[in-house]
Amino acid sequence: MQRYDDKQITRDFWMRQGRQLVAIAVALFLVLLMAVAHKRHDLFGEYSRTTLAAAQLAVIAAFIGFTAYNWRCPSCKKYLGRDINKRVCRHCKARLR
Ligand SMILES: [Zn+2]
Repeated sequence: MQRYDDKQITRDFWMRQGRQLVAIAVALFLVLLMAVAHKRHDLFGEYSRTTLAAAQLAVIAAFIGFTAYNWRCPSCKKYLGRDINKRVCRHCKARLR
């Protein structure tokens, strides 16, 4: 098993946190955009309700999939939970920041 030192863990976590924040922003933006498109047909053209609902579901599914892949402890690879500003992994107690 590969052992990371503290510096690698914090650097890896920093990158994961950055990717996670970008993913949250993109997912929120797309879901909101589709919600607006749903109401403002004049701006975005005509989309069927089912197309927009399916697209929103796809965004949410992609976000959950990405989170499951990305939001893991760099040291023990376990899921980090809901807190985006985690300092310590609750599984292996690795310092993340
Ligand atoms: Zn851990």
